[in-house]
Amino acid sequence: MTSTTTDRQQAETERRMAVEAAIEDCRARSIREVAAELQLGLEEKSGWLSGPCPVCGGHDRFNINTRDGGFFCRKGCEARGSGPIDLVMVTLRLEFMDAVREMHGDLPEKVTQEELDSRRAQRAKAEEKRAAEAERHREKAIEGAHGIWTRARGQGMQPVRDYLALRGLTPERLPELPGCLRYLPDQAYVLKRVVDGRRELVTMHRGPAMIAAIQGPDGRLTCVHQTWFDLSGPKGKPEILWQGERQRNKLTRGSQRRAAIRLITPDRFDTLVMGEGIETTLTAAVAWREALGPEVAYWAGISLGHMAGKMRKIPGKRYSGLPDMACEDGFYPPPWVRRLIFVMDGDSDPSPTRAKLECGIRRAMRLTPGLRGQIVPAGEGVDLNDLIAPSSPAETDTDPR
Ligand SMILES: [Zn+2]
Repeated sequence: MTSTTTDRQQAETERRMAVEAAIEDCRARSIREVAAELQLGLEEKSGWLSGPCPVCGGHDRFNINTRDGGFFCRKGCEARGSGPIDLVMVTLRLEFMDAVREMHGDLPEKVTQEELDSRRAQRAKAEEKRAAEAERHREKAIEGAHGIWTRARGQGMQPVRDYLALRGLTPERLPELPGCLRYLPDQAYVLKRVVDGRRELVTMHRGPAMIAAIQGPDGRLTCVHQTWFDLSGPKGKPEILWQGERQRNKLTRGSQRRAAIRLITPDRFDTLVMGEGIETTLTAAVAWREALGPEVAYWAGISLGHMAGKMRKIPGKRYSGLPDMACEDGFYPPPWVRRLIFVMDGDSDPSPTRAKLECGIRRAMRLTPGLRGQIVPAGEGVDLNDLIAPSSPAETDTDPR
């Protein structure tokens, strides 16, 4: 009787180890190979595989980063994830263990502890190789950012002043231009796109651009933010078209890890106001400076995704609003900040926007115990930039919970 129970326990342990070994095997697989087996019809160029989205189609909207295994669809459909198992789950619409069975064939009957350990070691080695490749790529991108920042040194700032005035930030409202802004009169707007089945760098536009330094926690420049403008366009925005589709007028170059655009940074501050874009954040500074006082920094968070950091996936919920604390790439507030105010633009879909901001606030509160987080909406359906009239954040306080 006892021996049967022990046998059963032994069999159960072996079965569990066999499953774990199969998962390790799948995780260690190259994303390239798995994408090829899935016949996704992707083309590779400089570290990216691109092509039609396995969920929603198109031509080149689906992208896999071969360095870290992350993938996403530009249309924002559910085709996003990380690693070979996620890719199989998304493409074949399978649950986790079914995807493992699909990739692995029949699961092994049993494996020994040594075999399992050796598989884990193999996977760790593959992981290490990928991380090293990603780090090399990151260093190259930071070099590119420094190149742009250096080229923009010493350029006259009048065109940037004129552009900001078109966005309501006149010299009267903003007497001093932030030191983290520079100007380039003829900057190329370059993106990778698939042309005749090949991924290529395409110059879609050239023109004047406002260049902003993006600084990591130690103050070093790791990235630049570029805003192309056209002083004759509506709100100063240029029309950048690619195959008839209008493109955003902003691009970054470099590594954004934990970084921000430090627009206004007093010597001492314990409150940080952060909007997504430069214009929104400066508008908040103009409107709230008097109400909030001098010991307040105004930094732009670059993108909602960066302010949020990685969000935890919860079955049945597209946006959980809960931070994945294993991710260390999103924005990190300085450890001395006691109050963090996120400005919520009203011009985007409110529910995902709100979930992302809540995720970022929760992340900050976990990182800095005692920090107070707030999300201050800029008014329904209105970009804060359109609301230059002062409003007190205290009146619109919203508890992120
Ligand atoms: Zn898609």
